[in-house]
Amino acid sequence: MEKKEMLYEGKAKKIFRTDNPGLYWVEYKDDATAFNGLKKGTISGKGELNNRISAYFFRLLKQNGIENHFVEEKSAREMVVKSLQIIPVEVVVRNVAAGSLAKRLGLEEGTLLSSTVVEYYYKSDELGDPLINEDHIRALNLAAPEQLAHIREIALQVNDVLRAHLAERNLDLIDFKLEFGLHDGELLLGDEISPDTCRFWDKNTREKLDKDRFRRDLGDVEEAYREVYRRLTGR
Ligand code: UDP
Repeated sequence: MEKKEMLYEGKAKKIFRTDNPGLYWVEYKDDATAFNGLKKGTISGKGELNNRISAYFFRLLKQNGIENHFVEEKSAREMVVKSLQIIPVEVVVRNVAAGSLAKRLGLEEGTLLSSTVVEYYYKSDELGDPLINEDHIRALNLAAPEQLAHIREIALQVNDVLRAHLAERNLDLIDFKLEFGLHDGELLLGDEISPDTCRFWDKNTREKLDKDRFRRDLGDVEEAYREVYRRLTGR
């Protein structure tokens, strides 16, 4: 398979065409942004760690019957994925109050939620990814009702698989963001699953091992990402 021209450059990844129209080549960057692009920086080693961690999680999900876009790793920071027409909705799953939810509802960060919360955000840089509900998604034709029901079901399954797997590695899955798309009409989980898009806290110390170290200037950002990789793979 051949890597062809770049189709799109995002904040954390570049997407290239390949000689197979059904496959994209993804390159994970060390660049980091937060607060809708207002904060910018570089985290050395992040591209490789996020590529490896995402590949690990996508394989784990596949083994647990959750289909996704991952095909194969190509290098330390590159993977090949199935091409998706992305649905412009970010799906956030939350087990513990943190970040924007803690702020919006006046909850202390770290409060265990009595039941899992699924939220939807409209993917729009101009609007700053506003929170939307299922009616908005239907009214704006962002996804069909049966697609949305499927998305919610997959998101909750991903939560069950990841939460249990991470718990065995002494990590709490606080919350995470997923994106979905269509490949030949089939709904598939896409994007990435990494410390950029999830909150992981050490079970005992509650130390943050994710992008909040960058967002909040807590230091040791690369070390935190490396620690997640080490707990997953032992490497
Ligand atoms: N998240 C993400 N991309 C975004 C916004 C959020 O990956 O554009 C992830 C974030 O890393 C966290 C979860 O979604 O794991 C919930 O984020 P939250 O709404 O609390 O937003 P934040 O506090 O990051 O502004």
